[in-house]
This record gives sequence, structure tokens and C-alpha cells, in this order.
Amino acid sequence: MIETGGEALPGGRELSVRVPGDKSITQRALILGALAEGESRIGGVLRGEDPLATGRALAGLGVEIRGLEGSPESDLRIRGRGLRGWRQPDGVLDLENSGTGARLLAGALAAQPLTAVLTGDESLTSRPMERIVGPLRRMGAAIDCLGVPGRLPMRVTGGPLVPLCHRGTVASAQVKSAVLLAGVGAGVAVEVCEPRRSRDHSELMLEAMGVSVVAGAVEGGWSVGVPAPPTRLAPLDMEVPGDFSSAAFLLAWAVLSGCRGALTVRGVGLNGTRTGLLPVLARMGIGVDVAQRGTAGGEPVGDLRVAAPMGPPRAVEVGGAEIPAMIDEVPVLAILAARAEGVTRITGARELRVKESDRLTALALNLRRIGVAVEELPDGLEIEGTRGRLAGAAECFGDHRIAMCFGVLGATPGCDIRVDDPGVADVSFPGFWKLLARLPHRSASDRRGRTAYTRRDAARGDAAANPEAGCLVVAIDGSAGSGKSTTAAAVAFRLGFRHLDSGAVYRAVTLGLIERGTADAVLEEVTPEELAALEIDVKWGEGRMEVWLDGNRIPERDLRSERVTARVSQVSAIPAVRSGLLDLQRSARAGAGLVAEGRDMGSVVFPDAKVKVHLDADPRERARRRILQRGERSPGPAEIEAEADRLRRRDERDSSRRVAPLRRAPDAVVIDTTGLEPDEQIDRIVRLVEKARRVSR
Ligand code: C5P
Repeated sequence: MIETGGEALPGGRELSVRVPGDKSITQRALILGALAEGESRIGGVLRGEDPLATGRALAGLGVEIRGLEGSPESDLRIRGRGLRGWRQPDGVLDLENSGTGARLLAGALAAQPLTAVLTGDESLTSRPMERIVGPLRRMGAAIDCLGVPGRLPMRVTGGPLVPLCHRGTVASAQVKSAVLLAGVGAGVAVEVCEPRRSRDHSELMLEAMGVSVVAGAVEGGWSVGVPAPPTRLAPLDMEVPGDFSSAAFLLAWAVLSGCRGALTVRGVGLNGTRTGLLPVLARMGIGVDVAQRGTAGGEPVGDLRVAAPMGPPRAVEVGGAEIPAMIDEVPVLAILAARAEGVTRITGARELRVKESDRLTALALNLRRIGVAVEELPDGLEIEGTRGRLAGAAECFGDHRIAMCFGVLGATPGCDIRVDDPGVADVSFPGFWKLLARLPHRSASDRRGRTAYTRRDAARGDAAANPEAGCLVVAIDGSAGSGKSTTAAAVAFRLGFRHLDSGAVYRAVTLGLIERGTADAVLEEVTPEELAALEIDVKWGEGRMEVWLDGNRIPERDLRSERVTARVSQVSAIPAVRSGLLDLQRSARAGAGLVAEGRDMGSVVFPDAKVKVHLDADPRERARRRILQRGERSPGPAEIEAEADRLRRRDERDSSRRVAPLRRAPDAVVIDTTGLEPDEQIDRIVRLVEKARRVSR
């Protein structure tokens, strides 16, 4: 089922994977198909533990299902027995770990003229069932909890039901679906009002089967109803899209591994009631593009592509109305938060306490164990991001998403995490570990556990007394297109160092002069006083550099605007500008280390830098990278040659420039990146830093 479309393209920049079918949709397809009249065909199903358990329970109710345990590619065939045609089961129906299976089946059973006992594993029997027992009883079903009140095992005796308008206190798609299934099964009108809109897969599938569903915003939330249920359900013929919740783990891996081009997850379900994580990722500075949009089984689908991040994610505040559409992705958000800059606050997620585990406690406990500062709130978490090494054992509590999120975190640089029960991932993502192992790995040096520097490192010894003294400076320069900015950002991220992007400082001055109306003709006459009057400042939010002008942070788009790019080279050649910016650049030296990137970093600004690197690459290779970077596809030889010529001319101009020419410092280590993967470039520099640290100890 998981096909890695797989192999990285030349240069290792693109990786394309598929995830298994959506768990929610597969579960619903099974139960709805079993209620249809005729045979349903379902392609792309998830053959995980949860749907298998639901399938076995349905078989116990006399429903014939073919292909559920078959090959990943084969379709599933369900011979439906009609709305009230299920057979009295012989034994107990064991839904194992599947909350969706248990709750939706209870709803469907409420209308069947039979008695069935539902049970589950230790985790499922401790989850609340009262929320479905209440409304189903009010419709007329006889439900007895055989052990603890409000918990499985429970006996459901179904039959004719009465209409119901249910007002739920939590947004729960399972409660909503159970009531809808009971109403449709019994042929009575039902309406469910929830405080916030929950996922609507059941509604979409019911509509595809001929049910008219009425949904819309109401005072205090969202209402979904079936006022006039039909007498039969048409069979389904559909493809299940890839599971967004599974894709989210891979997106997080791509962000946190921080160095390997772009990752595309293909054919992912993009139902808006499920993709609430995407806008949150955008706020964290993580861009995810959607391409190849289409539909599958009435659900929107598309390819998700996350570009190699330039740096760590930013912390976010998430809560309230945002939570239902990303409820299953909170564990993914938590591991991103563990590596983000700042404190992430998640609230309004109390529902996580009654998932396959108490996910808030499970996340807090495990994050703390591996070295992340976490505050557990009644309805959420406060997580302080760190660049320190994260190591230890994660306890899964029988929860697939807890296993997978720590699995993903453990497969990224600076982490050494063991997961105690990896097998639980099979519930929703069979083959998860195999796929994770096939993704490009963290570096060899990292596996030896020596790359990351913790905050404690930063605060230790001299550095605590004098921020500059313990700060190891890495100066990175290189020719145009050698990949120096991406490399410098990634090295800083990997080491937990600050990243001084000196180009951005020159860009800020250029913007300031443009805004003051300084004409090009008089640029050269800029005086130190005029420069000082610009009030350029550099601030640091946990390692990330911010450039300020006249008391305001300059947005990236202004800094990189065309009008600035066109003049920055001229401005940076003004001697008063270069000398005027020396102190500001030097003030960046603080904490464990600084990666200073740009012209003259190793010669003029930080001549005493412990590590100096000069990146170079064959002009044709640099040309190819530039073209790809612009988003164009596989350039031909003529296009590459023309761009390479431009770069050669620029090299010449840059090295013959009167002020601050491009010249490698005599003591710089030259790294030819022509045949190197981005990972390898970063590894080499990180190894130089480790060596420098050992020498200076
Ligand atoms: O790296 P970036 O393109 O943002 O840099 C903008 C320009 O600033 C460079 O093309 C270069 O002309 C100039 N610059 C410089 N010295 C630095 C950094 C950048 O002259 N240390």
C-alpha cells in the first residue's frame, strides 16, 4: 500500500511518497456499505488494525466482505444487507482499539432488530461511551453497560426508534455519525447540533448513497440533520483518499529533518474538516503547497509538498475553533513545537484526553522525558521549543499516534528516541516504520550523538559570564549559487547557533536609503551620520535573526523585493556602509555559537572565527541549482550553459570589486559542493565545528 514513488530524483531534492487510505473514511465505508442494498466497491482502503476489527465485527453480523485482508491494491467488496438486515451475531463483537468502529456500529445497531454485545481492548474499554449511549437510548434503543457505567462492554438491543434532535457538548464526529446512522437505519428524522463543526465524511458518503443531508451553522455551533431518510441506501463505488493524519507525520519529518530538498505526499484527502493543521503550519513558517487537486469518493484530494525549511519553525498559539479540524494532528504539532522557536500554547483540546490514550498526558510525559520543557494544561499543552539534544524512551500507551510522532522526532537530527511499542502504528499506518527507515537518514555524526549543543552547553562556563567568550563563530562564504545561505541556515539550525545573514543587513540599509529617497547618484556620499540615522537594528528571537528599521521589523518580502535586490550590491560597496555595519554584525556573537554568512565574514568582521568555510561548485552545477530554485523544471544543456555564463561573469565582477571583493580567506576550508548532497555539505561543516570545539577545550 505504501509505495514510495520513492526514490529521490537526481540530486536528492525530491522525494515522493504515498500514505495508506484514510482511516475515518475506510471505517465509514465498511459500515455504510454493510447497510446498503447491493454490492459496494471501495478502492484504496486502509488495511490497518482498526478497519480489520470493524470488518470482523461486520462479518459477525452476517455481512460478506471480500478483499479486506487481501493485497494492498485490490478493491474491497461489501455485500450490503440493507438498512435493517444484519444477522443476530453468535458471539461478542470485539472492536479491539477502534473507537470509530465501536461508536458507529452502536449507532447502526440501535436500528437493527437484534441484540449484540460490543467490546474492545483495554484502551477502548476505558474510553467514554456515555456520549453515544445517551442519545441512542433517547431514540429508544436498549443499551446496557455490562461493566463500568458508560464504558464498553455494552449490550445493544435495537429496533424501531423515535426521531431525535441531539445537542452535543463536544464536537464529535463519532457521536454525530452514530445518531445519523441510527436515524437513517430506523427511518426517522434526526438532527445533531455540535458546538463546533466536526469531520463530515459520514455526511458526504450518506449523500453519495442517496440520503439528503441538511447541514449549516446555527446559533452556538453547527447542525447536521437527515429530516427525511430514504428507505434504502445505494451501494458505494469509491476510492478512499490517502489519510491526511498519516501524511501529517511525514510533513513533520520533512520540516524537522531540515535538510533534504522537498517531500511530496501524493493523493492525500484534503477535506476541510481535517486539514486544520495547514494554516497552523503556515503560521509556524512552514509552507505546504497543494498540487494536483482533484476528488476521490466525493472528497477533495491533492498532493502535499513541503519545501526544505530554511530554519526552525516558529512557535504558535492554537486553540478553540481551530482544534476540531486538527484534533488528530495535535501530537504532530507537539513535536514541531518541541523544535520551534518560542513557546507554543495549545488549548481547547480536552477531547485528546479520551482518545486511544490520554494524549495530553502522554505527550507531556514523553516530551519531558526526552528533555523538552512542557506544561500540561487541563485542555492543552505549553511546549517550549529547544534545539538541545533530545534523548530517551517514549512510552506509547497503546496509542498509534503517540508511537508515530516520537518515531518521527527520533528520525530527525539531534534526537535519539526509542519507542517502546512501535507495533501500535499498524492501527492506522501499516508499514510506517519501513517507510520512515527509507527516508533519507540523519547524518552519521548525528547518530553518534555529537552534533547538538544544548542550552545547558550555551549557558555553561565562560559563556554564562560573558556571552561573547564562549561563542564559537563559523564564517561561511561562497560564490553565487554555491548554496551558502541554505547551508548556513541549516548548519545553524542543526547546531543550535545563531545565524547572521549579513546580506539581510545590507538589504536593510538599502531599503532605508530607498525609503529616504536617497538617489542612486548620491549613494556613494552617504555619511556615517546618515547611516546611523537610519536606525538599523538586528534582534534575535531564539537564534532567528530579525532586521529592524526605524523601530519596525522589516517583513521578508520587503527585504527581498526587487527594488532592494537591484541596488543592494551598489550600497554594499560603499565604504561608509561597510564600516558602519561592523559593530552591529559583531554584536550577533552570543550564546553557544554563531554562523556568520556572507562576504568578508571570515576576513574582516570575524577574523578570529574558529571555523571558516568557503563553498564553491562548478558553474554549471550552480547554474542548474539556480534554475531549479526558480521553480523551473529540468533545464536543458543550453539553458544551463547560458546561466553558467552569467554566473562566471558575476564571479569575475564580485572578485574584482574594489570594496570587499569576493575572496576566500586564506585559512578558509574550501568545500566543493558540486557532487555533494545538501546533507553532506552540512555534515562536513558540522564536523569542522566539532573538531574546533575539541581543540579549544
Ligand atoms: O545574500 P544576499 O543576496 O541577501 O546579499 C545581498 C548583497 O549584499 C550581495 O549580493 C552582496 O553584494 C552584498 N553583501 C556584501 N557583504 C556581505 C553580505 C552581502 O557585500 N557580507
